[in-house]
Amino acid sequence: MANNNPLLNFQDLPLFDQIKPEHVSPAIDTLLAECRTVVAQLEQPIADIHWDNFVTPLENVTEKLGRAWGVVGHLNSVVDTPELRAAFNENQVKLTEFWTALGQNLNLYQHYKNLAQSADYDSLSMARKKIISNALRDFKLGGAELADEHKARFAEIQEKLAGLATRFSENLLDATNNYKLHISDAAELQGLPDYALEAAQHAAEQDGKTGYQFSLHFPSYFPILQFADNRALRETIYRANATKASELGGHPEWDNSAIMDELLALRQEEAKLLGFNNYAEVSLLPKMAESAEQVESFLLDLAHKARPFAEKDLQELRQFAREQFGIDELEAWDSTYVSEKLREQRYAFSEQELKQYFPEHKVLAGLFHVIASLFEVEIKADQASTWHPDVQFYRVERAGQLVGLFYLDLYARAAKQGGAWMDSARAHGRTATGIQTPVVYLTCNFNAPVLVEGVKKPATFTHDEVITLFHECGHGLHQLLTKVEDISVSGISGVEWDAVELPSQFMENFCWEWDVLQEMTAHSESGEPLPRALYDKMIAAKNFQSGLQTLRQVEFSLFDMRIHAQSDQAKKLSIAETLQQVRDQVAVIQPPTFNRFQHSFSHIFAGGYSAGYFSYKWAEVLSADAYAAFEEAANAEGTSLSRQTGLKFQTEILEMGGARPAIDSFVAFRGRKPSIDALLRHNGMTNS
Ligand SMILES: [Zn+2]
Repeated sequence: MANNNPLLNFQDLPLFDQIKPEHVSPAIDTLLAECRTVVAQLEQPIADIHWDNFVTPLENVTEKLGRAWGVVGHLNSVVDTPELRAAFNENQVKLTEFWTALGQNLNLYQHYKNLAQSADYDSLSMARKKIISNALRDFKLGGAELADEHKARFAEIQEKLAGLATRFSENLLDATNNYKLHISDAAELQGLPDYALEAAQHAAEQDGKTGYQFSLHFPSYFPILQFADNRALRETIYRANATKASELGGHPEWDNSAIMDELLALRQEEAKLLGFNNYAEVSLLPKMAESAEQVESFLLDLAHKARPFAEKDLQELRQFAREQFGIDELEAWDSTYVSEKLREQRYAFSEQELKQYFPEHKVLAGLFHVIASLFEVEIKADQASTWHPDVQFYRVERAGQLVGLFYLDLYARAAKQGGAWMDSARAHGRTATGIQTPVVYLTCNFNAPVLVEGVKKPATFTHDEVITLFHECGHGLHQLLTKVEDISVSGISGVEWDAVELPSQFMENFCWEWDVLQEMTAHSESGEPLPRALYDKMIAAKNFQSGLQTLRQVEFSLFDMRIHAQSDQAKKLSIAETLQQVRDQVAVIQPPTFNRFQHSFSHIFAGGYSAGYFSYKWAEVLSADAYAAFEEAANAEGTSLSRQTGLKFQTEILEMGGARPAIDSFVAFRGRKPSIDALLRHNGMTNS
């Protein structure tokens, strides 16, 4: 009975304690049928088209489907069971089919075009105009405008691209899994910490061997590069890792070379079909960055500014290697090891010691205090049906009025997907019955409280975990504090991809402020706040080798942009030539000639980052510069938590969501365009 299906309850919060895997298919089938009925009606000619007789009914019906599916997806991520996974996979196929067909529906596309030309258009709000232009853009990129003779080829390219990306990942995974380095003598492994030795011993046992076994999975090989005193061993594992899935990897069946060339050629062909000069133009269309040239000059400028610091980092490293280890020629397999030793010598402090200052209750109180101070809201514990007893639930209020709600699922569990993320359970928007308050999920994977002699010892977090929590909360605030009334551009919806990390990275900055940390720390035994001496060490260690790290990110980003921005196929450089050209231009360290890092660069060959890897640095410029407004206010007001600046950030950035271009929101907040200065300063790359 549809009426009894908890996934079809849209009045209240999801009834997590009642939802069962067997509810999924009937609910999704019902909602898909409703969607198809409405779409079939809306496909018909509409005489007097306006927002309310076209977009409103379409958004209402698809929002219900999206919301119910969001609940299923969330449960699948946090309480995975075989039954739920089966229901999820089965229905995901139906949904993908539906969304793809919707994105290529020419009748709907025509209606959006007509709406953009209609008498009604001028009277629409900025948010609604943005929704229409986003829709037109997405239809175009989905191939809706292609001539019939090109449609089949376009679909074929899409299919091939998906297949090649999968094969790229599979080759990489096979090359990673199948490499085995067996060491019988523990003396060869001097310097490795116990956890790495134990894991290697366990891996050997799994294969019925004694001794130690290493693979090319990061947690397995990286401790060798970082800690192994044995230089030859470091070289062996470095070489294996740097050549995996390439023509030098010793396994032609896992060589990604041809796949990479084919991916680039097909992306270029797709771009041409869609009427663009190259794939970078396609990738950049829904982003804040305007052109490949703009991204190039941003990256080259950053490289230019980071270079003196990177050279200094390298010089220090070489000198330390010579003096401490007698290494005259610092090789690629030495730098991680020597860096680790240099870091230990300079900034020795124990992570374990620091962690004692961040008990959960104090961290949450500190976080809520930051939010309350900046944005004039109160966060109160509340009750709701959840998927696990450890999940907390809160309400956000302003002057006694409900603003939004959130679930906080902090601890790692079996059957919960790793990592940390924010997801929307219900978006802010206006419905026929009034304002729909937003609801979000904040999910982390921190260590749960442990039982010591029958008593629950409160969880304590590492500083990195605290930063993660603030980061996800930044995304959450974007979603919770928006005032946009059209859900397609409320909160993070419709925000450009390279700007979406602004609020999240922005929030991270507070985790480094002395006054904030004083409020948010209490030693788990003594109750004392973080001591100044320990804080000073944290700050000193924060920017260790940031020059080198920045150049590395620039190198990856520039390489990614250039292989996707070559319009003239006759003058095209190969992947290897492009990479060498980039290195000659920006790198201070030239990797060995056998290095084939590009063969495992999944972000751009198998993930969504093609011609988009620069987004990491791009968004960091925005978040650092936005945060600089708070630093300026702090100088005048004596607190990191300037309410006036907080309210402006809320009005111009958080509340606006995707309703206007990110650059306009930024300029409205800052009174000018973004500047790179704050990022350089935060990374310790200024000359003062
Ligand atoms: Zn994020």
